[in-house]
Amino acid sequence: MISIEERAAELNGAIRDCLLCPLAETRTHSVPGEGPLRAEVMCIGEAPGMNEDRQGRPFVGAAGKFLEELLAAAGLQRDEVYICNVLKCRPPENRDPLPGEIEACAEYLELQIDMVDPLVIVTLGRFSMSRWFPQQAISRIHGNVREFDGRLVVPMYHPAAALHQGNLREVLLADFRKLPALLDQARGAKGPIAGSERLDLPITPVAAPPPKVNSDEQLASPGDTSPGQIRLFE
Ligand code: URA
Repeated sequence: MISIEERAAELNGAIRDCLLCPLAETRTHSVPGEGPLRAEVMCIGEAPGMNEDRQGRPFVGAAGKFLEELLAAAGLQRDEVYICNVLKCRPPENRDPLPGEIEACAEYLELQIDMVDPLVIVTLGRFSMSRWFPQQAISRIHGNVREFDGRLVVPMYHPAAALHQGNLREVLLADFRKLPALLDQARGAKGPIAGSERLDLPITPVAAPPPKVNSDEQLASPGDTSPGQIRLFE
């Protein structure tokens, strides 16, 4: 039985050397993610930007600075939280992730969630939100917690959105301020959360949907890009 540290090293190595999609050709560094391997909170962003691509670390630019402020509003320090992204490599010019790229990277995110096993997942922006809340509008559901497979998932706006749209700053702060109460509840109810009345916010238990990708947009290269190629921890 390998330790969680060995597991993380193996997974991070696979991400660093990944050739599953064409972003491997344009990246400087892939960005596996970082934080305590037993973090109670996991924040999942969209994809590395220019600074993250240069440093190989998530959320190190302006959005990362604001994320740290948001975490502080929830009484959390950055180094208490596991931070990663849907895509582990930067899309050129920071364009939106393509469905085939999300699919190629999906197993890495699944393995990270399985490894860290957080009590609460905060999705940042619509691309990480749609893993749990497909077809939903972030403007409608941000800050509303749902239970999936015994853990809480809270969709939130991406911190970068508030850098462009100032009014989202307070919205994000208000949503992050809900985290301490959610964490308390989740700690007390480790395992499936019974009784949504115990929370300030309505919680609906649902099974996690499989990652959904538009099959019209497939990867062009290189070779077989099926995420089923990843054979870690079997
Ligand atoms: N935006 C993201 O979604 N992730 C990062 O790591 C940085 C900016």
